[in-house]
Amino acid sequence: MQVAAPWHRKVLQELLTQHKEGRLPHALLLCGAKGTGKRRLAKALLEAILCRSPVGGLACGACQTCHLSAAGSHPDLVVLQPEEEGKAIRIDPVRALVEFCSLTPQYGDYRLALVAPAEAMNRNAQNALLKTLEEPGNNTLLLLLSDQPGRLLATVRSRCQLRMLEKPNHGVALSWLTDQVGQPERAAALLSLASGAPLRALSLDGSEWFAEREKLLKQCLSLLAGRVPASMAAQSFVKLDVSGVLDALYGWSHDGLQYLARGREPEDQQLSELLKKLADRAGSERLLAFAEQVARCRRWLANGNNPNRDLMFEQLLLVLVGVDAGVSAF
Ligand SMILES: [Zn+2]
Repeated sequence: MQVAAPWHRKVLQELLTQHKEGRLPHALLLCGAKGTGKRRLAKALLEAILCRSPVGGLACGACQTCHLSAAGSHPDLVVLQPEEEGKAIRIDPVRALVEFCSLTPQYGDYRLALVAPAEAMNRNAQNALLKTLEEPGNNTLLLLLSDQPGRLLATVRSRCQLRMLEKPNHGVALSWLTDQVGQPERAAALLSLASGAPLRALSLDGSEWFAEREKLLKQCLSLLAGRVPASMAAQSFVKLDVSGVLDALYGWSHDGLQYLARGREPEDQQLSELLKKLADRAGSERLLAFAEQVARCRRWLANGNNPNRDLMFEQLLLVLVGVDAGVSAF
């Protein structure tokens, strides 16, 4: 049984009330930052709608339909997602989804479909879904999740009711994450590296690059001290999860800028001294240029590009040492 994150419980109750009163739209687009628990919220909603004996409006977790939902084998619930993270959802599975929505429910009263992330659908796939979004048939709910709704066709967005989900505030996120990982310092470090997205932070815990982050930071310091060239320092970065590393670099430059401007201590206490040294050595102008370049790389990756990583990290690190290498050609 899926439980929504604490910061989504109110939204979940509102959506369930809408459903109970027959006011839930047939096509709902839930938008919010990556790694903030949208999928948990969606699953908790769908499971509650399917459950035969809900408790306090939520799924009971014990009835037969709840068992089927949890096992991913409920005949009236379809989840559409890329086969691998970062891959596209193509037209064929969307056609199958359209077919599914046209049938009558087998088990209960509703047919439910979840598409996550919705922007993973390529253009043809999105077009194939338009008619179903407009007229999904009786007792059908199409739930689309997105952290980049700008990548959806305007015609898809306009056929859905849009609901923006806010990021949890820092205190709530930190307290939840501390419960999950056990140590407040570790939770704070993870959260700052995940730009405040708690589920993303949890997924970083135990990742190879989280364990290696001190080494990466030391490589940056060696680079700034002129002890290693950018091409060599980049080698420590390329073998790790690229989006995780870019998140970390962004978080570090942000923390460094806050420290230089306001004297604020970095959130990653375990690396605090090294981060301050990095900020002092790079200076705010270069840190700012670096942060902007990291953000550009993140957008580039989010748009489905597959860069030459050696080149990308080398050019990024050159920005940190003040060499404008014209980061556009990786
Ligand atoms: Zn149940």
